[in-house]
Amino acid sequence: MARYIFITGGVVSSLGKGLMAASLGALLQARGYKVRIRKFDPYLNVDPGTMSPYQHGEVYVTDDGAETDLDLGHYERFTGVSARQADNVTSGRIYQQIIAKERRGDYLGATVQVIPHVTDAIKEFALADQGDHDFILCEIGGTVGDIESLPFMEAIRQLRNELEPNQTLSVHVTLVPYIAAAGELKTKPTQHSVRELASLGIKPDVLLCRAEHPIPESERRKIANFCNVRMEAVIPALDAPSIYSVPLQYHNEGLDSEVLRGFGITDAPEPDLSRWLDVTDRYFNPEGEVTIGVVGKYVGLQDAYKSLNEALIHGGLANRVKVNIRWIDAEVFEGEESDIAAKLEPLHGILVPGGFGERGSEGKIASVKFARERDVPFLGICLGMQMACIEGARLAGLEKASSTEFGPTQEPVVGIITEWMSKEGLQTREAGGDLGGTMRLGAYPAMLAGNSHVSTIYGGASEISERHRHRYEVNAAYREPLERTGLVFSGMSPDGLLPEIVERPDHPWFVGVQYHPELKSKPFDPHPLFSGFIAAALRQSRLV
Ligand code: GLN
Repeated sequence: MARYIFITGGVVSSLGKGLMAASLGALLQARGYKVRIRKFDPYLNVDPGTMSPYQHGEVYVTDDGAETDLDLGHYERFTGVSARQADNVTSGRIYQQIIAKERRGDYLGATVQVIPHVTDAIKEFALADQGDHDFILCEIGGTVGDIESLPFMEAIRQLRNELEPNQTLSVHVTLVPYIAAAGELKTKPTQHSVRELASLGIKPDVLLCRAEHPIPESERRKIANFCNVRMEAVIPALDAPSIYSVPLQYHNEGLDSEVLRGFGITDAPEPDLSRWLDVTDRYFNPEGEVTIGVVGKYVGLQDAYKSLNEALIHGGLANRVKVNIRWIDAEVFEGEESDIAAKLEPLHGILVPGGFGERGSEGKIASVKFARERDVPFLGICLGMQMACIEGARLAGLEKASSTEFGPTQEPVVGIITEWMSKEGLQTREAGGDLGGTMRLGAYPAMLAGNSHVSTIYGGASEISERHRHRYEVNAAYREPLERTGLVFSGMSPDGLLPEIVERPDHPWFVGVQYHPELKSKPFDPHPLFSGFIAAALRQSRLV
């Protein structure tokens, strides 16, 4: 049976619990263990699919089509283990299931309550689908003391009693703030947080103390004493120069060995950290740099494009170059006065990312036009590919070309899909239906044209599988006028109906994809589209 590591956070949010879980997973994996990481989100949305990226950052989509918390992206990028629907649950989803059961009469007249019904459902989720994993890490969203996380804490408390004594471990992530006026690190918030956790019946085994200054031994001892934890299990976690340094840094502070010790494992193999040494070597010793402009909508909050940001850096790692990212609000290219050349000329590559809604679309189309005319490497992702097709259609003389997402149009170059094939058979949607959970989501195959640029990028592959999250599609009925402008449909769905990839063979590097390649890129295994795009940007940087 798998061993369970429960990760909770205290004092404040944004301590990097997700990265901590991902790094601990990576370290255990480096010792040869099989790991899985799960996220429990206490909010009432059924999934984050309908939340604004400004509120919650990006929605991370899994192969099996789940819209999940962005922390699952960290888990997958750090461990290479594909996340699944079964790895993310929210209070909303748990209540939805319980209420559906109650309406069906499944509870046989019982009063349905938080304890035991909600807590049982949480435990069931934690224990489901264990496979042959050695460790299952469960991160609880939010901060200890939040009202909404109480049922999750209670479920953990019960599980710690019900499973074997050496089968569970509690890691609590806290903050040790530095008070500049006093010139001191303060341990009191950590003490309070551990007391709060203890009052819920959970005694932490390992404390990971986030701090901006080194924690002296005397303070570690104090934390250990007051919090009833061994001193070696008080792990200082200082701010890291890069997220890629975190696994090595936490290893050096003893995190993985303390966790193993907590389980009573004394014969664990030494970790093979070569993957992380290589990644950090590439990251900290670049041999050049490129500047990429991302012309999008949610540019005010980087978490909104988390995976994209990471994938661009991975493309840099593949080419040993530093990638500078300029986040540009597409709307700035929409005014009469806008001087698009001044903003885009210094860039070595232009990327139009995924997005929703009409706002900024004309600015995105103008950026595509600039990249096409000026031979600047271009990558369009999802909405970005749709904009590249609208730009191509206008070039073909269809001035009214648009997307039905932006309102009624005479030239629906991009239109809503109401029917498509998936592994489960024909999927159908109504145009005016629900917004939550009604997109083409998850992994779908695409067939690549034999002599295309993308087939070279994908190492000669003829069939690929990539993750989708969209409601609209490029309308294959416009293929002929688009191809006349040199925009070739080089990847299609297996039934030949849905355009998946477009490219311009007469351009140095111009690719649009209907899917989200950024979701599958890893620092130790950069996605070929990003490696290729950054390589093209590097060539461009030598020209300008
Ligand atoms: N808004 C577009 C659609 O729904 C694109 C979505 C996206 O870029 N993820 O099709």
